[in-house]
Amino acid sequence: MSQSLQDEFIKKELLHGAQNYSPLSVVLEKGKGVYLWDVDGNKYLDMVSAYSAVSHGHSHPELVKAIKNQSEKLAITSRAFYTEPFANFLESLTNISGFESVLTMNTGAEAVETAIKAARRWGYFTKGISENKAEIIVADGNFHGRTTTIVGFSSEESYKRGFGPFSKGFVEAKFCWSGCSKEESIESFKEKINKNTCAILVEPIQGEAGIRVPEKGWLHELRELCNENDILLILDEIQSGLGRTGKLFAFQHEDIIPDGLILGKALGGAMMPISAFLSSKNVMDHFNSGSHGSTFGGNPLASKIATRALEILYEDNLIDNSCELGSYFKSKLRSIDNNIIKEVRGKGLWIGMELNKHNFNAKDLCLMLLNEGLLCKETHKSVIRFAPPLMITKKEIDWAIEKITKVISSI
Ligand SMILES: *Cc1c(COP(=O)(O)O)cnc(C)c1O
Repeated sequence: MSQSLQDEFIKKELLHGAQNYSPLSVVLEKGKGVYLWDVDGNKYLDMVSAYSAVSHGHSHPELVKAIKNQSEKLAITSRAFYTEPFANFLESLTNISGFESVLTMNTGAEAVETAIKAARRWGYFTKGISENKAEIIVADGNFHGRTTTIVGFSSEESYKRGFGPFSKGFVEAKFCWSGCSKEESIESFKEKINKNTCAILVEPIQGEAGIRVPEKGWLHELRELCNENDILLILDEIQSGLGRTGKLFAFQHEDIIPDGLILGKALGGAMMPISAFLSSKNVMDHFNSGSHGSTFGGNPLASKIATRALEILYEDNLIDNSCELGSYFKSKLRSIDNNIIKEVRGKGLWIGMELNKHNFNAKDLCLMLLNEGLLCKETHKSVIRFAPPLMITKKEIDWAIEKITKVISSI
Protein backbone atom coordinates (compact mmCIF):
# COMPACT_ATOMS: atom_id res chain seq x y z
CA MET A 1 0.00 0.00 0.00
CA SER A 2 1.34 3.42 -0.93
CA GLN A 3 2.11 5.62 2.04
CA SER A 4 3.23 8.72 0.15
CA LEU A 5 0.15 10.91 0.44
CA GLN A 6 -0.99 9.29 3.66
CA ASP A 7 2.22 10.17 5.53
CA GLU A 8 1.79 13.82 4.64
CA PHE A 9 -1.68 14.08 6.21
CA ILE A 10 -0.79 11.98 9.22
CA LYS A 11 2.21 14.24 9.91
CA LYS A 12 0.04 17.34 9.57
CA GLU A 13 -2.56 15.99 11.98
CA LEU A 14 0.07 15.02 14.52
CA LEU A 15 1.72 18.44 14.21
CA HIS A 16 -1.39 20.60 14.57
CA GLY A 17 -3.96 18.46 16.35
CA ALA A 18 -4.56 17.39 19.92
CA GLN A 19 -3.51 13.79 20.32
CA ASN A 20 -6.58 12.54 22.15
CA TYR A 21 -6.97 9.56 19.79
CA SER A 22 -4.53 7.04 18.36
CA PRO A 23 -5.92 6.33 14.86
CA LEU A 24 -4.84 3.46 12.65
CA SER A 25 -2.41 4.83 10.06
CA VAL A 26 -4.79 5.16 7.15
CA VAL A 27 -6.05 8.45 5.70
CA LEU A 28 -9.61 8.13 4.45
CA GLU A 29 -11.01 10.14 1.59
CA LYS A 30 -14.27 8.63 0.44
CA GLY A 31 -17.08 6.36 1.62
CA LYS A 32 -19.93 4.53 -0.05
CA GLY A 33 -22.14 1.96 1.66
CA VAL A 34 -19.94 -0.43 3.64
CA TYR A 35 -16.77 0.69 1.85
CA LEU A 36 -14.16 3.35 2.54
CA TRP A 37 -11.27 4.48 0.35
CA ASP A 38 -8.00 6.06 1.42
CA VAL A 39 -6.28 8.94 -0.36
CA ASP A 40 -4.25 6.48 -2.44
CA GLY A 41 -7.39 4.75 -3.69
CA ASN A 42 -7.14 1.60 -1.54
CA LYS A 43 -10.53 0.15 -0.69
CA TYR A 44 -11.59 -1.10 2.74
CA LEU A 45 -14.61 -2.73 4.30
CA ASP A 46 -15.70 -0.68 7.32
CA MET A 47 -16.18 -2.74 10.50
CA VAL A 48 -16.03 0.29 12.80
CA SER A 49 -18.88 2.37 11.36
CA ALA A 50 -17.73 5.39 13.37
CA TYR A 51 -18.50 3.49 16.58
CA SER A 52 -21.91 2.47 15.24
CA ALA A 53 -22.90 5.89 13.94
CA VAL A 54 -22.88 4.65 10.33
CA SER A 55 -25.73 2.13 10.43
CA HIS A 56 -27.24 3.36 7.15
CA GLY A 57 -23.95 3.06 5.28
CA HIS A 58 -21.70 5.86 4.10
CA SER A 59 -23.35 8.55 1.97
CA HIS A 60 -26.73 6.88 1.61
CA PRO A 61 -28.16 8.39 -1.62
CA GLU A 62 -31.50 9.27 -0.01
CA LEU A 63 -29.77 10.99 2.88
CA VAL A 64 -27.44 12.82 0.52
CA LYS A 65 -30.54 14.05 -1.29
CA ALA A 66 -32.13 15.10 2.00
CA ILE A 67 -29.07 16.98 3.22
CA LYS A 68 -28.73 18.75 -0.12
CA ASN A 69 -32.38 19.79 -0.35
CA GLN A 70 -32.75 20.88 3.25
CA SER A 71 -29.44 22.75 3.41
CA GLU A 72 -30.43 24.77 0.35
CA LYS A 73 -33.71 25.64 2.00
CA LEU A 74 -33.05 26.18 5.72
CA ALA A 75 -30.33 24.74 7.94
CA ILE A 76 -29.98 26.51 11.27
CA THR A 77 -32.51 28.59 13.17
CA SER A 78 -31.98 27.89 16.89
CA ARG A 79 -35.02 27.00 18.96
CA ALA A 80 -36.05 30.63 19.12
CA PHE A 81 -38.46 29.66 16.33
CA TYR A 82 -40.58 26.70 15.24
CA THR A 83 -39.72 24.77 12.08
CA GLU A 84 -41.48 22.12 10.04
CA PRO A 85 -38.58 19.59 9.96
CA PHE A 86 -38.26 19.70 13.75
CA ALA A 87 -42.00 19.20 14.30
CA ASN A 88 -42.04 16.29 11.85
CA PHE A 89 -39.00 14.72 13.46
CA LEU A 90 -40.59 14.82 16.92
CA GLU A 91 -43.74 13.21 15.54
CA SER A 92 -41.75 10.46 13.78
CA LEU A 93 -39.54 9.61 16.73
CA THR A 94 -42.39 9.49 19.25
CA ASN A 95 -44.46 7.33 16.85
CA ILE A 96 -41.64 4.88 16.23
CA SER A 97 -40.34 4.70 19.80
CA GLY A 98 -43.61 4.79 21.73
CA PHE A 99 -42.26 7.51 24.05
CA GLU A 100 -44.39 10.62 24.57
CA SER A 101 -41.81 13.34 24.47
CA VAL A 102 -38.38 14.17 23.00
CA LEU A 103 -35.65 16.68 23.80
CA THR A 104 -33.00 16.96 21.08
CA MET A 105 -29.33 17.78 21.51
CA ASN A 106 -26.33 17.20 19.22
CA THR A 107 -23.91 14.73 20.75
CA GLY A 108 -24.46 11.66 22.86
CA ALA A 109 -22.81 13.15 25.93
CA GLU A 110 -25.19 16.12 25.80
CA ALA A 111 -28.20 13.80 25.69
CA VAL A 112 -26.83 11.92 28.72
CA GLU A 113 -26.45 15.24 30.55
CA THR A 114 -30.06 15.98 29.59
CA ALA A 115 -31.18 12.66 31.07
CA ILE A 116 -29.30 13.43 34.30
CA LYS A 117 -30.98 16.83 34.56
CA ALA A 118 -34.42 15.33 33.88
CA ALA A 119 -33.91 12.58 36.47
CA ARG A 120 -32.78 15.05 39.11
CA ARG A 121 -35.69 17.46 38.55
CA TRP A 122 -38.10 14.53 38.66
CA GLY A 123 -36.39 13.43 41.88
CA TYR A 124 -36.77 16.84 43.54
CA PHE A 125 -40.10 18.01 42.16
CA THR A 126 -42.04 14.73 41.92
CA LYS A 127 -40.43 12.19 44.20
CA GLY A 128 -39.71 14.81 46.87
CA ILE A 129 -35.99 14.27 47.41
CA SER A 130 -34.44 17.07 49.53
CA GLU A 131 -32.51 19.74 47.68
CA ASN A 132 -29.10 18.71 46.29
CA LYS A 133 -29.36 15.17 47.65
CA ALA A 134 -30.39 13.27 44.50
CA GLU A 135 -28.36 10.18 43.62
CA ILE A 136 -28.09 8.27 40.36
CA ILE A 137 -26.82 4.69 40.35
CA VAL A 138 -24.55 3.75 37.43
CA ALA A 139 -22.74 0.52 36.53
CA ASP A 140 -19.02 -0.19 36.66
CA GLY A 141 -17.41 -0.32 33.22
CA ASN A 142 -19.91 2.25 31.92
CA PHE A 143 -19.30 4.59 29.01
CA HIS A 144 -21.65 7.55 28.70
CA GLY A 145 -19.44 10.19 27.10
CA ARG A 146 -16.71 12.67 27.93
CA THR A 147 -18.05 15.69 29.81
CA THR A 148 -16.53 16.31 33.24
CA THR A 149 -19.72 15.18 34.98
CA ILE A 150 -19.90 11.97 32.95
CA VAL A 151 -16.24 10.95 33.24
CA GLY A 152 -16.57 11.64 36.96
CA PHE A 153 -18.72 8.53 37.35
CA SER A 154 -16.66 6.36 34.99
CA SER A 155 -14.62 3.53 36.47
CA GLU A 156 -11.97 3.93 33.75
CA GLU A 157 -9.00 5.73 35.27
CA SER A 158 -7.67 7.02 31.91
CA TYR A 159 -10.98 8.81 31.24
CA LYS A 160 -10.80 10.83 34.45
CA ARG A 161 -7.20 11.23 35.57
CA GLY A 162 -6.38 14.91 36.06
CA PHE A 163 -9.88 16.16 35.19
CA GLY A 164 -11.38 16.49 38.68
CA PRO A 165 -13.02 17.74 40.80
CA PHE A 166 -16.12 15.87 39.68
CA SER A 167 -19.87 16.24 40.27
CA LYS A 168 -21.39 14.53 43.28
CA GLY A 169 -24.53 12.44 43.24
CA PHE A 170 -23.39 9.27 41.44
CA VAL A 171 -22.84 5.88 42.99
CA GLU A 172 -21.56 2.75 41.30
CA ALA A 173 -23.04 -0.72 41.31
CA LYS A 174 -21.79 -3.88 39.59
CA PHE A 175 -22.62 -4.54 35.95
CA CYS A 176 -23.79 -8.08 35.25
CA TRP A 177 -20.69 -9.48 33.66
CA SER A 178 -18.22 -12.34 33.90
CA GLY A 179 -16.95 -12.55 37.43
CA CYS A 180 -20.27 -11.18 38.63
CA SER A 181 -23.54 -13.09 38.45
CA LYS A 182 -26.94 -11.54 37.80
CA GLU A 183 -27.89 -12.01 41.48
CA GLU A 184 -24.68 -10.35 42.65
CA SER A 185 -25.20 -7.45 40.27
CA ILE A 186 -28.84 -6.87 41.25
CA GLU A 187 -27.89 -7.14 44.92
CA SER A 188 -25.22 -4.46 44.47
CA PHE A 189 -27.82 -2.11 42.91
CA LYS A 190 -30.19 -2.87 45.80
CA GLU A 191 -27.52 -1.97 48.33
CA LYS A 192 -27.02 1.44 46.74
CA ILE A 193 -30.70 2.41 46.79
CA ASN A 194 -31.89 4.88 49.40
CA LYS A 195 -34.57 7.56 49.69
CA ASN A 196 -32.46 9.94 47.58
CA THR A 197 -32.10 7.63 44.59
CA CYS A 198 -33.79 9.20 41.57
CA ALA A 199 -32.50 6.99 38.74
CA ILE A 200 -30.56 3.99 37.59
CA LEU A 201 -28.62 4.81 34.42
CA VAL A 202 -27.10 1.92 32.44
CA GLU A 203 -26.26 0.70 28.94
CA PRO A 204 -28.32 -2.45 28.16
CA ILE A 205 -25.15 -3.81 26.54
CA GLN A 206 -21.85 -2.13 27.37
CA GLY A 207 -20.23 -1.14 24.07
CA GLU A 208 -16.97 0.66 24.84
CA ALA A 209 -16.26 -1.79 27.64
CA GLY A 210 -16.03 -4.53 24.96
CA ILE A 211 -19.58 -5.54 23.92
CA ARG A 212 -20.51 -6.89 27.34
CA VAL A 213 -23.89 -8.61 27.12
CA PRO A 214 -25.51 -9.09 30.54
CA GLU A 215 -27.21 -12.33 31.55
CA LYS A 216 -30.78 -12.77 30.37
CA GLY A 217 -33.28 -11.27 32.79
CA TRP A 218 -30.88 -8.68 34.22
CA LEU A 219 -32.60 -5.67 32.68
CA HIS A 220 -35.96 -7.12 33.67
CA GLU A 221 -34.87 -7.32 37.29
CA LEU A 222 -33.52 -3.77 37.21
CA ARG A 223 -36.92 -2.68 35.88
CA GLU A 224 -38.66 -4.37 38.82
CA LEU A 225 -36.22 -2.88 41.28
CA CYS A 226 -37.01 0.59 39.90
CA ASN A 227 -40.75 -0.03 40.10
CA GLU A 228 -40.56 -1.21 43.70
CA ASN A 229 -38.50 1.77 44.80
CA ASP A 230 -39.99 4.62 42.75
CA ILE A 231 -36.81 5.10 40.70
CA LEU A 232 -36.47 6.01 37.02
CA LEU A 233 -34.80 3.45 34.79
CA ILE A 234 -32.81 5.33 32.14
CA LEU A 235 -31.11 3.46 29.32
CA ASP A 236 -28.24 4.80 27.28
CA GLU A 237 -28.92 3.32 23.84
CA ILE A 238 -26.71 5.79 21.99
CA GLN A 239 -24.82 2.88 20.50
CA SER A 240 -27.16 -0.10 21.03
CA GLY A 241 -30.27 1.64 19.70
CA LEU A 242 -31.83 1.94 16.24
CA GLY A 243 -31.28 -1.62 15.08
CA ARG A 244 -27.66 -2.21 16.05
CA THR A 245 -28.56 -5.25 18.22
CA GLY A 246 -31.12 -6.70 15.80
CA LYS A 247 -34.10 -4.98 17.39
CA LEU A 248 -35.08 -1.31 17.19
CA PHE A 249 -33.95 -0.92 20.81
CA ALA A 250 -31.87 -3.34 22.89
CA PHE A 251 -34.42 -3.19 25.75
CA GLN A 252 -36.89 -5.01 23.48
CA HIS A 253 -34.79 -8.18 23.87
CA GLU A 254 -35.97 -8.14 27.50
CA ASP A 255 -39.53 -7.00 26.97
CA ILE A 256 -39.29 -4.01 29.24
CA ILE A 257 -39.85 -0.29 28.75
CA PRO A 258 -37.49 2.18 30.42
CA ASP A 259 -38.63 5.55 31.82
CA GLY A 260 -35.98 7.39 29.86
CA LEU A 261 -34.09 6.55 26.69
CA ILE A 262 -30.99 8.20 25.27
CA LEU A 263 -30.25 8.05 21.54
CA GLY A 264 -27.47 9.46 19.35
CA LYS A 265 -24.93 8.17 16.84
CA ALA A 266 -26.97 6.42 14.09
CA LEU A 267 -29.88 8.83 14.65
CA GLY A 268 -28.07 11.26 12.33
CA GLY A 269 -27.98 8.79 9.44
CA ALA A 270 -24.16 9.07 9.25
CA MET A 271 -24.59 12.65 8.08
CA MET A 272 -25.25 14.93 11.02
CA PRO A 273 -24.72 14.87 14.76
CA ILE A 274 -28.08 14.66 16.51
CA SER A 275 -29.01 13.08 19.83
CA ALA A 276 -32.14 12.86 21.90
CA PHE A 277 -33.54 12.15 25.33
CA LEU A 278 -36.97 10.48 25.27
CA SER A 279 -39.39 9.94 28.13
CA SER A 280 -42.97 10.29 29.32
CA LYS A 281 -44.47 13.77 29.64
CA ASN A 282 -44.44 13.22 33.42
CA VAL A 283 -40.66 13.30 33.37
CA MET A 284 -40.07 15.65 30.44
CA ASP A 285 -42.45 18.32 31.70
CA HIS A 286 -39.99 19.12 34.45
CA PHE A 287 -38.14 21.08 31.80
CA ASN A 288 -39.56 24.55 31.36
CA SER A 289 -38.41 27.49 29.26
CA GLY A 290 -34.91 28.52 30.24
CA SER A 291 -34.03 25.32 32.11
CA HIS A 292 -32.11 23.60 29.32
CA GLY A 293 -31.15 24.07 25.70
CA SER A 294 -28.66 23.97 22.87
CA THR A 295 -28.08 26.39 19.98
CA PHE A 296 -27.88 23.65 17.38
CA GLY A 297 -30.14 21.09 19.09
CA GLY A 298 -33.14 20.28 16.90
CA ASN A 299 -31.96 22.34 13.96
CA PRO A 300 -33.99 21.85 10.77
CA LEU A 301 -31.11 20.28 8.83
CA ALA A 302 -30.35 17.58 11.40
CA SER A 303 -34.08 17.08 12.03
CA LYS A 304 -34.74 16.45 8.35
CA ILE A 305 -31.85 13.98 8.07
CA ALA A 306 -32.88 12.16 11.25
CA THR A 307 -36.49 11.85 10.11
CA ARG A 308 -35.37 10.34 6.82
CA ALA A 309 -32.85 8.12 8.66
CA LEU A 310 -35.66 6.66 10.79
CA GLU A 311 -37.72 5.89 7.67
CA ILE A 312 -34.75 4.24 5.97
CA LEU A 313 -34.26 1.90 8.95
CA TYR A 314 -37.48 0.25 7.73
CA GLU A 315 -37.29 0.94 3.96
CA ASP A 316 -33.88 -0.75 3.78
CA ASN A 317 -34.80 -3.47 6.27
CA LEU A 318 -31.79 -2.58 8.42
CA ILE A 319 -33.10 -3.93 11.73
CA ASP A 320 -33.93 -7.42 10.40
CA ASN A 321 -30.69 -7.47 8.44
CA SER A 322 -28.77 -6.71 11.64
CA CYS A 323 -30.55 -9.58 13.39
CA GLU A 324 -30.10 -12.17 10.65
CA LEU A 325 -26.61 -11.30 9.48
CA GLY A 326 -25.48 -10.67 13.04
CA SER A 327 -26.25 -14.29 13.91
CA TYR A 328 -24.59 -15.46 10.71
CA PHE A 329 -21.45 -13.39 11.29
CA LYS A 330 -21.18 -14.57 14.90
CA SER A 331 -21.56 -18.23 14.00
CA LYS A 332 -18.91 -17.88 11.28
CA LEU A 333 -16.49 -16.20 13.70
CA ARG A 334 -17.15 -18.92 16.29
CA SER A 335 -16.32 -21.58 13.74
CA ILE A 336 -12.80 -20.18 13.25
CA ASP A 337 -10.76 -22.81 15.02
CA ASN A 338 -7.86 -21.06 16.73
CA ASN A 339 -6.84 -20.76 20.35
CA ILE A 340 -6.07 -17.06 20.16
CA ILE A 341 -9.86 -16.50 20.18
CA LYS A 342 -11.23 -16.63 23.70
CA GLU A 343 -14.84 -15.67 23.03
CA VAL A 344 -17.17 -14.25 20.38
CA ARG A 345 -20.15 -12.38 21.80
CA GLY A 346 -22.70 -9.72 20.96
CA LYS A 347 -26.17 -9.11 19.59
CA GLY A 348 -27.06 -8.24 16.02
CA LEU A 349 -24.25 -6.69 13.99
CA TRP A 350 -22.47 -5.65 17.17
CA ILE A 351 -19.88 -8.28 17.86
CA GLY A 352 -16.90 -8.47 20.17
CA MET A 353 -14.16 -11.02 19.60
CA GLU A 354 -12.06 -11.40 22.72
CA LEU A 355 -8.51 -12.66 22.33
CA ASN A 356 -6.56 -14.65 24.85
CA LYS A 357 -4.54 -11.71 26.18
CA HIS A 358 -1.22 -13.41 26.62
CA ASN A 359 -1.26 -14.65 23.02
CA PHE A 360 -1.82 -11.56 20.95
CA ASN A 361 -2.55 -7.86 21.12
CA ALA A 362 -5.86 -6.76 19.56
CA LYS A 363 -4.31 -3.61 18.05
CA ASP A 364 -1.72 -5.71 16.17
CA LEU A 365 -4.50 -7.85 14.78
CA CYS A 366 -6.32 -4.69 13.62
CA LEU A 367 -3.17 -3.60 11.78
CA MET A 368 -2.96 -6.98 10.05
CA LEU A 369 -6.63 -6.79 9.09
CA LEU A 370 -6.05 -3.28 7.75
CA ASN A 371 -3.48 -4.70 5.34
CA GLU A 372 -6.13 -7.14 4.13
CA GLY A 373 -8.62 -4.32 3.54
CA LEU A 374 -10.66 -4.60 6.70
CA LEU A 375 -11.04 -1.62 9.04
CA CYS A 376 -11.50 -2.77 12.64
CA LYS A 377 -10.95 -1.21 16.04
CA GLU A 378 -9.78 -2.79 19.23
CA THR A 379 -11.10 -1.95 22.66
CA HIS A 380 -9.25 -2.54 25.93
CA LYS A 381 -6.29 -4.28 24.26
CA SER A 382 -7.93 -7.70 24.01
CA VAL A 383 -11.25 -7.21 22.19
CA ILE A 384 -11.86 -6.52 18.50
CA ARG A 385 -15.20 -5.05 17.59
CA PHE A 386 -17.04 -5.92 14.42
CA ALA A 387 -19.81 -3.40 13.84
CA PRO A 388 -20.32 -2.94 10.10
CA PRO A 389 -23.00 -0.69 8.61
CA LEU A 390 -26.33 -2.50 9.00
CA MET A 391 -26.79 -2.67 5.21
CA ILE A 392 -23.90 -5.11 4.80
CA THR A 393 -24.66 -8.23 2.73
CA LYS A 394 -23.97 -11.90 3.37
CA LYS A 395 -21.46 -11.90 0.53
CA GLU A 396 -19.50 -9.06 2.13
CA ILE A 397 -19.50 -10.89 5.48
CA ASP A 398 -18.19 -14.03 3.76
CA TRP A 399 -15.39 -11.95 2.25
CA ALA A 400 -14.56 -10.50 5.68
CA ILE A 401 -14.59 -13.95 7.31
CA GLU A 402 -12.14 -15.19 4.67
CA LYS A 403 -9.75 -12.33 5.51
CA ILE A 404 -10.16 -12.70 9.28
CA THR A 405 -9.52 -16.46 9.03
CA LYS A 406 -6.47 -15.87 6.86
CA VAL A 407 -4.96 -13.33 9.24
CA ILE A 408 -5.65 -15.39 12.36
CA SER A 409 -4.19 -18.57 10.93
CA SER A 410 -1.04 -16.68 9.91
CA ILE A 411 -0.24 -15.79 13.53
C1 LIG B 1 -20.70 7.04 21.95
C2 LIG B 1 -21.43 6.90 23.21
C3 LIG B 1 -21.71 8.01 24.03
C4 LIG B 1 -21.19 9.40 23.74
O1 LIG B 1 -21.63 9.93 22.54
P1 LIG B 1 -20.85 11.18 21.89
O2 LIG B 1 -21.66 11.53 20.69
O3 LIG B 1 -19.47 10.73 21.55
O4 LIG B 1 -20.85 12.26 22.94
C5 LIG B 1 -22.48 7.80 25.16
N1 LIG B 1 -22.92 6.59 25.48
C6 LIG B 1 -22.68 5.50 24.74
C7 LIG B 1 -23.24 4.18 25.14
C8 LIG B 1 -21.90 5.62 23.59
O5 LIG B 1 -21.61 4.53 22.86
